[in-house]
Amino acid sequence: MEQQALQVLRTVFGYESFRPPQEQVIDTVIRGGDALVLMPTGGGKSLCYQIPAIVRPGTGIVVSPLIALMQDQVAALRQSGVRAAFLNSTLGAAAARAVEEALLAGELDLLYVAPERLLTGRFLDLLARAPLALFAIDEAHCVSQWGHDFRPEYIQLSVLHERFPAVPRIALTATADEPTRREIIARLQLEQAQVFLNGFDRPNIRYRIVERGSNAREQLLRFIRAEHDGEAGIVYCLSRKRVEEVAHWLAEQGLTALPYHAGLPAETRRVHQERFLREEGVIIVATIAFGMGIDKPDVRFVAHLNLPKSVEAYYQETGRAGRDGLPADAWMAYGLQDVITLRQMLAQSEADESHKRVEHHKLDAMLGLCELTSCRRQALLRYFGDHLHEPCGNCDTCLEPPQTWDATVAAQKALSCVHRTGQRFGVNYLIDVLLGKDDERLRRFGHHQLSVFGIGQELNVNEWRGVFRQLIARGLLAVDIEGHGALRLTERCRPVLRGEETVLLRREIKAAKAPRNRRKGGAAVAGSDEALWEALRAQRRLLAEEQGVAPYMIFHDATLMEMMAARPTTLAALAHISGVGTRKLEAYGEAFLAVLQQHADAETERSDTVEDTLQLFRRGMHAEAIAHRRGLTVDTIHSHLATAIARGQVELNDALGLAQAEVNAIADALLAQDGGKRLKPVYEMFDGRYGYGVLRCVQAALGREIQDARE
Ligand code: ADP
Ligand code: ZN
Repeated sequence: MEQQALQVLRTVFGYESFRPPQEQVIDTVIRGGDALVLMPTGGGKSLCYQIPAIVRPGTGIVVSPLIALMQDQVAALRQSGVRAAFLNSTLGAAAARAVEEALLAGELDLLYVAPERLLTGRFLDLLARAPLALFAIDEAHCVSQWGHDFRPEYIQLSVLHERFPAVPRIALTATADEPTRREIIARLQLEQAQVFLNGFDRPNIRYRIVERGSNAREQLLRFIRAEHDGEAGIVYCLSRKRVEEVAHWLAEQGLTALPYHAGLPAETRRVHQERFLREEGVIIVATIAFGMGIDKPDVRFVAHLNLPKSVEAYYQETGRAGRDGLPADAWMAYGLQDVITLRQMLAQSEADESHKRVEHHKLDAMLGLCELTSCRRQALLRYFGDHLHEPCGNCDTCLEPPQTWDATVAAQKALSCVHRTGQRFGVNYLIDVLLGKDDERLRRFGHHQLSVFGIGQELNVNEWRGVFRQLIARGLLAVDIEGHGALRLTERCRPVLRGEETVLLRREIKAAKAPRNRRKGGAAVAGSDEALWEALRAQRRLLAEEQGVAPYMIFHDATLMEMMAARPTTLAALAHISGVGTRKLEAYGEAFLAVLQQHADAETERSDTVEDTLQLFRRGMHAEAIAHRRGLTVDTIHSHLATAIARGQVELNDALGLAQAEVNAIADALLAQDGGKRLKPVYEMFDGRYGYGVLRCVQAALGREIQDARE
């Protein structure tokens, strides 16, 4: 049967080989053994039960906590020709009956069910009469009270083992630390199961935590425009109000941004989620109410405008980016106010003491991650008991190592200021004192006479905010319980005040610089490739709309990219592309080959006409004369010359009769816009003074410069 598994991988799913633990897991389950699988999001857990369910006789029953996830998985499986169905409250009685009959008749490979339904006596009796291949328990951490998505129904899933001891079970999760793992095994009676632990690393996600400037929204917009223009992403905010406000504002800036939070009508939420899944390039702005069970593979970024409460939450939320394995960003803007708010929320929490201690500990770990000056990924993995021996090279601290400075004296000044003013004031007031501000309120309290008044003028307001933030984050200062934001000293600040401990702080980095490189789902897409990429995506969109499924269910981005690189011209060649299985080849092969062919023809034609222009140009004719001779527009001739510049056949200065200052101005404008990719805003910026052809020439020259710099 093992041979059969590989066969299914290749023909049904279109993948060449298994990823590391998949093969062993699938082997185990096909042979009737139980398995517990811990794999990071995007690692490929689904195949671990889907393939055994297809290979073994009977139906694989998949327990999944989320209805949205079920529908999507079933729709995606059907695209690959797998006989899959789901049973949940969204189905009408007749449809549900039809599914049950198919189950009894052995006509299903996979059946997804919600735990509530699975556990009813009626359904268990039905199962007893059906041929069963396996039970898969997805999101198995939901069984754990220690974990963070506890679902009471999950506890009763042990009944499966008791009633159907001969049917193999496989439990899967992406988030399980040691105690959660033990709880899963105990509660689901998986003592005999083989455990497959495959690390937690998500190497394709680039972690970045930036200091928040005075305008977080602007920072977010710059980040999206520069790096994820037109791509799908999730933006997390703490409050519903903020969600609405940010979504509205992003939409005003011309992005497709939709709000999502528990206070919106169910129908609105459904529509927004649906659009996020089905359309391309939709941004969801959400509270944490959004995301569980979102299986969309091509989420290119997850942005946090507020600090999550724990590293677990951060890891789970950011983990929704890049499930397809292509490069993705986890970006967070974080500042002093976050630290104060979260500390206050904790202080005011009604939870019992032991619970509070745990929460405190979790928040400290999260703050520690933010203030880190070494590799973020190493710290994240360490938190989950996983080890990465070398710094990752794909997080902000690796890419741009932050500088630290000896802030011992500054810390002492800040702490004394808190002490001398009676531990009753908030950050802004304290900074006013340190800077020696002439202020009415300050005078009233007599604080202009204190020894700390005006002793902090070597730093500016922002730098002081950074100092206070880090002191609070490290627990040297505490936030008051009453919620006014007053700071007080803690036990831990003594050694610093006594001069026994050195304080090294992160240096505040100036607001983000211009983006250096733009990545589209990973590989850079340039020039004529951009056109092919768009054409392939348009074809995919068309097919998806015809069937009312999400574009990624037709083909993933990674599959389209491989098509671009390999340029197959026959169905047989197309079949070799990863993600193209037998059914999809039959259903969509011709359509995509046609797009590739069309593009190849256009390229040849274009190449010929560029060649004609180039010959005239080499004879000393300038663009206007060539246009006249060939009966084309000057703009078209400039575009031809741009192609020649990109190929290194023509120099920019020869092609355009522009002054160097003009060229520089255009180049700057291009770079400021999306790293030089978008022409329209630049065209408009100069009121159309420079045609698109001219802009393309400058763009092509920039492209070559960047390329040369790399080599
Ligand atoms: P998980 O459930 O672990 O988050 P998925 O099962 O959704 O991950 O798989 C993540 C992505 O990896 C999917 O796009 C899937 O098609 C792809 N994938 C899984 N296994 C393989 C494989 N052996 N070869 C290529 N792609 C794979
Ligand atoms: Zn790193």
